[in-house]
Amino acid sequence: MTSQPRNPMDLLAQLDLEALGRLSQKVDLPALLNGASRLNDGQLKQLSRMLAGGSEQQRALPEANGDFYGQLAELGAEQRAVAASVADFMRAHVAPIMNEHWSRDEFPQHLIPELRKLDLLRRVWNEDGTRKSDATVMEGLITLEACRVDVSTAVFFGVHAGLAFASIALGGSPEQKAEWLPKMLDLEAIGAFGLTEPEGGSQVSQGMRTTCRRDGDNWVLNGEKYWIGNSPFSDFTVVWARDVDTQEVRGFIVRTGTPGYSVRKIEGKVALRIVENGHITLEGCRVPETDRLQEVQGWRTTAEVLRLTRAGVAWQGVGCALGAYELALRYAQTREQFGKRIGEFQLIQNHLVHMLGNVTSSLSMVLRLSHMADTGQMRDEHASLAKVVTAARCRETVALARETFGGNGILLDHGVIKHFADTEAIYSYEGTNEINTLVVGRAITGFSAFV
Ligand SMILES: Cc1cc2nc3c(=O)[nH]c(=O)nc-3n(C[C@H](O)[C@H](O)[C@H](O)COP(=O)(O)OP(=O)(O)OC[C@H]3O[C@@H](n4cnc5c(N)ncnc54)[C@H](O)[C@@H]3O)c2cc1C
Repeated sequence: MTSQPRNPMDLLAQLDLEALGRLSQKVDLPALLNGASRLNDGQLKQLSRMLAGGSEQQRALPEANGDFYGQLAELGAEQRAVAASVADFMRAHVAPIMNEHWSRDEFPQHLIPELRKLDLLRRVWNEDGTRKSDATVMEGLITLEACRVDVSTAVFFGVHAGLAFASIALGGSPEQKAEWLPKMLDLEAIGAFGLTEPEGGSQVSQGMRTTCRRDGDNWVLNGEKYWIGNSPFSDFTVVWARDVDTQEVRGFIVRTGTPGYSVRKIEGKVALRIVENGHITLEGCRVPETDRLQEVQGWRTTAEVLRLTRAGVAWQGVGCALGAYELALRYAQTREQFGKRIGEFQLIQNHLVHMLGNVTSSLSMVLRLSHMADTGQMRDEHASLAKVVTAARCRETVALARETFGGNGILLDHGVIKHFADTEAIYSYEGTNEINTLVVGRAITGFSAFV
């Protein structure tokens, strides 16, 4: 900026008196000058920017797009089309109602018919329960675009299309697949996945308390399952239980309404409030042998389902961080303090660049992981490392994004606090930070540090 003349006589010499005369016929010039003389430095700078043609105010600022390296833009046409359809759905149907549903602690079930129209499951799974060649990338993109706006929507989809669907696809007989998979692909039957117990989270593989006992053509299930997403309104839950006779883990399709099976919705969550999680009680619950998942090979099948879905949870961290970064950037481009957009401050730019670095590196990681999964190269420790890293980077990113909003950051209407809160759930489920770290640590050192 050029320096301004300080001497009042110099100032007067620069004035166009004829123009001032014309102006004074239109406005109260003395009052205007009097008002201008009382402006503070910041307000004066703003005024001078406007007088300079409003160029800064009107200059098109860069679009808030967290895909800085164009990694998403380079994907295949079908993948980009699916991602765009999810983004449109989120913008048109979820964004307008999500705060209301968040406040009510309630999943918007009325959106299921709209979601059905996108036919997303068929982009991931074939009718027979085998996976498409790019299933993990596709699932990841769906997850990312949903989480960019609302993580709960991605979790609803992930539980149904990931955990529940994969349990039947990997553990079901041809008859069971024929009965359930078409309905699940069409979102006509909604599934849940019941593994965790009140006393058994990380240790559930070793300390599963829910039991099953064969009784003629039936099995009798007893126990409790906790945190089970979608279960308050699902059509069935895949319940994992330990056989009292063989000690083997078995999987069952337990239909809602079966006597002895009841679900209480868990109230009072401060993360993922739009997801409905249930506390399931099984009391002498009789399930026919035909609803035992016939191809389950003990815990090995359960672990295989979790391995398939862990990549999806790593994508949740990326999508959530991406959404929070973009919200923060837009806010920094418009919010003014001290006569400047806060994005003009170096410290705020530092936050934004740090967030973008997290998002960009996490996105590279999950894209590579998904390619490994889709080409049969992914091992447990690969998925675990991605979950650990993306969840941690997401946690850091949403905190910086929230900070960028100042006090407004804790208001639901500004959006970022929902990402902040949801990250706490991402951080802890599908294997906590500690458990996934131990999985990677065992793989790289050759020593198991599990106790
Ligand atoms: C919102 C939400 C949705 C969920 N949805 C589902 C669902 O749909 N279906 C389902 O089955 N489950 C679900 N879960 C459960 C989830 O998978 C568990 O919360 C998770 O496995 C952790 O178990 P926990 O919460 O019991 O923690 P705990 O196992 O009690 O762990 C507590 C702490 O101890 C640490 N810890 C435990 N063991 C070790 C060890 N050996 N070494 C070092 N540290 C250790 C953990 O890392 C953690 O920090 C959900 C959870 C949440 C929060």
